[in-house]
Amino acid sequence: MTPAAAPRERLRVAIQRSGRLAAPSRDLLASCGLTWRESRDKLFCYGESLAVDLLLVRDDDIPGLIADGVCDLGIVGRNVVVEHDLARAAAHPDESLTELRELGWGRCRLDIAIDAGERWQSPAQLAGQRIATSYPCIVGAWLAEHEVEADVVTLSGSVEIAPRLGQADVVCDLVSSGATLAANNLTPVATLLHSEAVVVGPSHALEESRGDLADLLLRRMDGALRLKETRLLMLRSPRADLSVVLNHLPEGHEPTVTAVDSAAGGVQDEVSVQMLCHGAVSWQRLEELKRAGARQVMVLPVEGMLA
Ligand code: ATP
Ligand code: ZN
Repeated sequence: MTPAAAPRERLRVAIQRSGRLAAPSRDLLASCGLTWRESRDKLFCYGESLAVDLLLVRDDDIPGLIADGVCDLGIVGRNVVVEHDLARAAAHPDESLTELRELGWGRCRLDIAIDAGERWQSPAQLAGQRIATSYPCIVGAWLAEHEVEADVVTLSGSVEIAPRLGQADVVCDLVSSGATLAANNLTPVATLLHSEAVVVGPSHALEESRGDLADLLLRRMDGALRLKETRLLMLRSPRADLSVVLNHLPEGHEPTVTAVDSAAGGVQDEVSVQMLCHGAVSWQRLEELKRAGARQVMVLPVEGMLA
């Protein structure tokens, strides 16, 4: 059960083996109905429910595996894809990977950060400075765009401590909360790239059977991502207050209003309202609905949906 032994008509998806993207990538694929059997070395997962196998690797290897045709799709940060494409651009100008979906998690920025005590005016002040980064091609392209000549010092990790170690003057690193930079007395001053986890594929279309499988998987991902955002809002409202309550409903589908039968069989002066909403429903919204006359206000996650 090694990757090489897998028949070619099976789709191969590369995901991060361990790290920030590993668990959400597996969760997403599981929510698409994929089940799998893991190889003993935990590098390969054989898809049981669909002919889709997973390769568990370092995130940096994912773009190369797709470009070389070893894998068909990958889930990886846009930062890694852009760096890879720029690095290969000279030798393979028409082979940029295709970003097929944005996944909405793993968000971060690739920022230039300077000593917190320094003033930032413009990229021109970086001329002649040493910039430590794990993204030399993105930084190089940005410097060229701003016509700045600086030294790019490529480091594979611990970029943020490079100035303290005397290896560099400034850094260009991934930032989400900014806490790591702040702890190293650095402040972000310019953003080179906004990143999040993406699904990538090769520059060319996949051949037929694997292409069909990839389309199926992407459609299921779209459904799973939409479902994750969907909530069912349920409440009861006195008939007299219904129009006010309806005015306070959040964004979403058309609400369904149903009469409520009393236990005795007669129609009560109350109705039941149900609606599918997009995104979280805030406490403030629930309080507004309550003030408008609603009771038994409930927000429920949606497990599955066929429109
Ligand atoms: P690997 O062992 O697979 O090479 P890694 O150390 O390169 O792992 P992680 O730290 O797990 O990678 O980050 C994976 C991705 O998560 C990054 O490439 C980036 O897209 C995203 N990410 C989101 N927030 C951050 C952050 N604050 N710092 C670093 N990466 C982040
Ligand atoms: Zn990595």
